[in-house]
Formats: sequence, structure tokens, C-alpha cells
Amino acid sequence: IDQSKIRNFCIVAHIDHGKSTLADRLIERTGVLTQREMSAQVLDNMDIERERGITIKSQAVRMVYKAQDGEEYIFNMIDTPGHVDFGYEVSRSLAACDGAVLVVDATQGVEAQTLANVYLALDHNLDVFPVINKIDLPSAQPQEVKDEVEDIIGIEAQDAPLISAKNGIGIDEVLEAVVHKIPAPTGDPSAPLKSLIFDSVYDPYRGVIVFVRIKDGVLKKGMKVKFMQTGAESEVVEVGYFGPGQFIPCEELSAGMVGYFTASIKNIQDTRVGDTVTSSDTPCAEALPGYKQVMPMVYCGIYPADSARYPELRDALEKLQLNDASLFYEPETSQALGFGFRCGFLGLLHLEVIQERLEREYDLDLVTTAPSVVYKIYKTDGTSFDLTNPSNLPDPSEIDHMEEPIVNGEIMVTTDYIGPIMQLCQERRGRYLSTDYVEQTRAILKYELPLNEIIYDFFDALKSRSRGYASFDYEIKGYETSSLVKLDILINKETVDALSFIVHKDGAYERGRKMCEKLKEEIPRHLFEIPIQAAVGGKVIARETVKAMRKDVLAKCYGGDISRKRKLLEKQKEGKKKMRQIGSVEIPQNAFLSVLKLD
Ligand code: GDP
Ligand code: MG
Repeated sequence: IDQSKIRNFCIVAHIDHGKSTLADRLIERTGVLTQREMSAQVLDNMDIERERGITIKSQAVRMVYKAQDGEEYIFNMIDTPGHVDFGYEVSRSLAACDGAVLVVDATQGVEAQTLANVYLALDHNLDVFPVINKIDLPSAQPQEVKDEVEDIIGIEAQDAPLISAKNGIGIDEVLEAVVHKIPAPTGDPSAPLKSLIFDSVYDPYRGVIVFVRIKDGVLKKGMKVKFMQTGAESEVVEVGYFGPGQFIPCEELSAGMVGYFTASIKNIQDTRVGDTVTSSDTPCAEALPGYKQVMPMVYCGIYPADSARYPELRDALEKLQLNDASLFYEPETSQALGFGFRCGFLGLLHLEVIQERLEREYDLDLVTTAPSVVYKIYKTDGTSFDLTNPSNLPDPSEIDHMEEPIVNGEIMVTTDYIGPIMQLCQERRGRYLSTDYVEQTRAILKYELPLNEIIYDFFDALKSRSRGYASFDYEIKGYETSSLVKLDILINKETVDALSFIVHKDGAYERGRKMCEKLKEEIPRHLFEIPIQAAVGGKVIARETVKAMRKDVLAKCYGGDISRKRKLLEKQKEGKKKMRQIGSVEIPQNAFLSVLKLD
């Protein structure tokens, strides 16, 4: 295949601006699939993605487009996730492309993640061109949005295609723009093989399927290849490209092409995303610049509700990790919850997605403990470590100081809501940096914020205080010393490890009080009184009490219909499974999660 006829591109957008819908239209229009074959959205192939409208796992599709110049072009479209949590996946998919289509919603204009994604694309030297979507909506303001793209982002937008991805308007214009505005790849097919791993999936029959972009040379069946970073070597069993929802084998992949190969690789860790694959016999001189290592930023404990299902949980996590190298897990035990796993995630959304997949795809009932960011603990004896589980915090007397992660946050907001949003950032210990007016009615607020203040409900709070008119994006800045304390919750005088929490000392009282109030609502009455206390360093700072109940719950059944009584007992048994025994107190499972949502 002639390289000048190849276009490798991705679509980037702020969430909900129509990236997946446009991707589907392009696939449909180039005729890879007939309309009937299109399930609702081909590229978002996981249930949860479809429901939440987000794209998690990068997917690639090859299309053949007959352009107006009469030539046939091969398009490789690589779908990128649209959420800040998945920033790393966005970036690795970008490295396989030569250009990007920027989708901007004509009713919303440029938003925080529009900017963030464009900057990422420009960082990877991609040529970016905009398309204005949703022009079918009455509130669309295509001209204003074009001006905005030019003013805020600084890329030419006057001739941007005006489209409706939903109604199939302007799709041909987008396809032509891909031909003319995205550069053809420029690798050397006769040089030694140099290819970039941008993703991989595990297949139980074929082993790891490695997704590659060939930069130079040729990749063929039977070839011996070497993974430059890990040093692993194997023989290529199959090469091919991405049909919609399927892998299509072919003879070879040459410079400029995007495709996959298999090589009976059993361990996904051998095929690190960002690694360079070369030929064992004639290796290339140097590897491509790699990616930064992914660091999980948010940790929580995940426990099976029914402890007998621990092995199933372990198997499920193992399987999920094969497809998601950014998921971390290791066994842990909790006094309150028994055997489970400490899991690490890129962010809170990532956590929720994994939790939902475990529950839905593996049919597991889970108890999840409060998520925590990673703190750096410096001890008085001169040692230090990363704390991922608050209950492992050493005694305060052994701690010299602690550090917490800080992010650089950018909030794009209409000027009406600047006040409430600034107040929110203040409450979350934000450090104000600047306000840039991007036009009369919109501004970008810049704040430094502690990560632990934004991982729970910051997005929700932002949306509700701006009526949906604010968007947010952040990147990790680094660690800073902070006055942090561990908040313990005692139920009936026993510390419940799964509820321990690291919090800034100024917020400890407020948080403790709210957690006690919430737990009081969640914990049912027992035959005895149950004190619920919040404590910092052994000192109680808040208290609530669950009053004792009277004894006659089953009384109404006595003498009654036996089957009714049995039913009631069965119901109780069922209910019990969803309870956790802490000392002599039964705590409902959802109490562990409800304490996160305190506002
Ligand atoms: P993504 O998050 O960028 O992938 O966005 P989606 O493609 O999932 O689209 C988000 C929502 O916008 C969905 O409800 C789509 O049906 C809707 N949408 C996408 N394109 C258009 C369009 O051109 N017009 C209208 N009215 N709605 C659209
Ligand atoms: Mg999508």
C-alpha cells in the first residue's frame, strides 16, 4: 500500500460533544458496515460505556474511503477515551496518529477538556482540524463557536465543517478534510522494523494481541520480534488490521500502517504500551520515546460482600487487569471486612467503572471502602513510604511530616458563576492562581487543589453550583507538605478500619460530624444502644447514638401463619448477607460508601 494514501487519525472532544457518534457515522459512510449491522455505537463496545456515554478502552478501525479525487484512501481511526481520568490512554492513542479531528459542540463551545485534548494532540505533533457538531439543534451557534475555537485554541476554524453527527449532515466534508488536512505517514519501509505498541488486549486462545503503529520497516508473520523495553522476544504468529469489531489477518504491515499482531504471548506485562517492537535479526538503532509510567492515583479496598466469593473476585480482577494495565491490585485484609484487595486507579471514574464491571460482568456483590489518594509519609527515623491505605498510618509520634498530591486545575465557566465556583474551590482548599477571560462571557479559572479534595464529589459539586455551565480538567502537579490527620470511626467503641480516612486537620471536625450523622441514619437499631464516634489521635471529636430498639420484632408472627413467618425469616437472612458484622454490631454494606457522599 502506498503510504501517501494512508491517514492515521483520532477524534478528540470534550465529553458528550459527539465523538463516538461521529466515529460511527464515518464507519457507516465508508461502508465497512451496513446500517443494519451497526449496533447503536460500534466503537463504544462495552455496556457501561454505552450507558455512561464515555469511551474507555481505545479502539481502532480501518476504513476505505473513495475520495472526490477518485483515489482510494485507507483511514485508520483510533478512538480515544474522553475523560480526564483516562488521560494516559488518550495520550498513548495519540502517539499512533498523525492528525486529529477536533469535535466541538455548536451549543456548548470550547470546554476544559476540549483544550486539554488539543494540547495533548499538539504535544504529539499532530495536525488538528476542527469540526462543529450538533448544528441541527436550535441553540447551535456555529459562527460563535468557530470564533471561539480560533480565539481560545488558536487554530484556523472558519472553514471547519458544520455537521450533525446524529443526523448524518456534513459527514462527507469531514471525510474529505481527513484526506486533505491530515498528513500521510512518512516512515521508511526499507529501514529496520520500528513500531509502537499503543494498546493490547488479552485473548484466551491467541494470547496477547498487540496493537501497533508501524513507524519504519515491515512486520510479517514468522518474523522474530523483540520488545525493546522488556527485552522479551517472540515469533509473530499473525498480523492484521482492525475491521469493525473484528481482527482481519493480512500478509504484512508496513511503515505508516496501524494494525495488530499475535505471538503466543501469555503475559501482558511483556507488551508494555509505549514500548518499541523491532526485529530480533536487524534491530533498529534506538527505541521510540516511551510513555511515562502510569501511576494509580486513587486507592480503595474492594471486598466481596459474601466472603466465600473471594476467589471469584481475585479471578475477576486478574481478568480485568489483562485488558487494563492501569488497574492495580494486591490482597489485603481488614478487621471489619475480612479478605479483599487494595486496588489502585487512575481516578474516581476509573474506580467506578471497574467496580461496575465487577458487579455486572462478574456478578459480584462488593463492599468498597472510602477511596484514598496516595500520601507520602516521612517518619522521624528518616525513612519514608507511600501510604495507600489510611488504616496503615503509623502512630503520629513516629511521623515527621506528610505530603499530599496537588493538581493544577482549570475550570472553564460562564462569568455568571465565577462567584460560586470560586467559593467551592476555596472550600476545597484551593489556591487561586488566575482568571483569564476568553471572551466576554467566559473565563478560565486556574487553581491548585489538593487531589483528595476533588476525588469524591468535586465534579458533581461543580456542575450543581454552575447549573452545568462549568467544566473541569486537571493534571497532577506534585506533592506538598500538609497538615493531615487520620480520622477514625468507632462503632460501639471499636475502630472500623475500613472507615478510616485521611483529612486536612481543619476539615477533620466537620467531616467527622457528618460521617457520624450519616452512619446514624444507615445503621439499624439493635437490642442495645450503639455509640458512633469520630476520633483523631484517640481524641473523640464527634458523637452520635443509635438508640436501642424494643425486643418484639418477631412478636407479630407468633401464632400466625407459619409460611409467613418463614418468609420473614428468609427475608432477614437475605438482608443479613448485605450486612457486615463489626463486633456485635451489624452495619449495612452501603454504609461504607454512603459516608463518601456527605454534601
Ligand atoms: P462523546 O462523549 O463525545 O463520545 O459523545 P457521544 O457521541 O456519545 O454523544 C453525546 C450525546 O450527544 C449523545 O446523546 C448523542 O446522541 C448526542 N449527539 C451527538 N451528535 C449529535 C448531533 O449532531 N446532534 C444532536 N442533536 N445530538 C448529537
Ligand atoms: Mg464517546
